[in-house]
Amino acid sequence: MALTEFALIDRYFRSCGATRGDVRLGVGDDAALLAPAAGQELVAATDTLVAGVHYPEPADPASLGHRALAVNLSDLAAMGARPAWALLALTLPQAEPAWLAQFAAGLGELARAHDVALVGGDTTRGPLCVTVTLLGHVPGGSALRRAGAAPGDVLFVSGTPGDAAAGLALEQGRLAAAPEASAYLRERFLRPQPRLALGERLRGYASACIDVSDGLLADAGKLAAASGAGVELDWAALPLSESLRAALGAERAGELALTGGDDYELCFAVHPDRVASLAAELPPQRWGYTRIGTLRAAPGAVVQREGTVMEFSHSGYEHFA
Ligand code: ADP
Ligand code: MG
Repeated sequence: MALTEFALIDRYFRSCGATRGDVRLGVGDDAALLAPAAGQELVAATDTLVAGVHYPEPADPASLGHRALAVNLSDLAAMGARPAWALLALTLPQAEPAWLAQFAAGLGELARAHDVALVGGDTTRGPLCVTVTLLGHVPGGSALRRAGAAPGDVLFVSGTPGDAAAGLALEQGRLAAAPEASAYLRERFLRPQPRLALGERLRGYASACIDVSDGLLADAGKLAAASGAGVELDWAALPLSESLRAALGAERAGELALTGGDDYELCFAVHPDRVASLAAELPPQRWGYTRIGTLRAAPGAVVQREGTVMEFSHSGYEHFA
């Protein structure tokens, strides 16, 4: 390993993200100095990707860098927050320049797209593991939470859930599809696009919000439980991408949309009186979200299909067993 730790940090991470005026001191000192904006609350999130556990091996470095930041951006999107500063804790088996360059490019491109400065981190040797900590702002008192929805609220989801789980299955050779559908679905796993603009605009509309990382049904259930309610999803309303239908057929596509993971879309509730103004201000076709169900008083998360309740106890992964 020709690179010293100092040279590695300097070469790949000192100017990896956006340049921001509120960074008084970034990479290079013992800690970063940041100037939070007046009247705003700080929002903080952290997530770890472990190769082989959260990520198929061998890990594509550009995608790993992208995803390590994307999963945290998605958490801030779900809070209605705007991201600002990131820290990167990187554990590497070896310092491989080509690998590091691609990893930094993947992370840096997404960071600059969302005006996120990389202000510090830690670099150690060991089995591949990436932890990103992300800080951002939300106007005081206006953050979206999982709690806050009530029975009768309408539930929405952005994007087309299930795509990323199919993309992961394709990556791992557990599923085969035609080239065009395969390329689209794999991209949805490798480079999720967190819904930051939508999250910010949902402040003032959503009564509750969560990002979909563990599967739509599970995460809608978490939102409902945090709100002291339950939720009923409508099978026929599930937004399925053409590629997902082509790869799996409508039946399995719907199952994967409900139970697959890694979507990084937003699932949110809106009081029925606010639904019309939401649609006027943020047209669903343009902003890419769909009405999928309703909050109810009875606890739990269920799916209605042609008047009967579907049972879902299995995870999406079993569909490729
Ligand atoms: P210390 O021993 O004081 O923790 P380090 O040698 O770990 O210092 O880090 C030196 C500087 O480089 C610090 O500013 C730290 O935040 C930054 N840094 C270390 N690793 C990374 C990384 N992977 N990405 C971004 N900044 C990093
Ligand atoms: Mg350190």
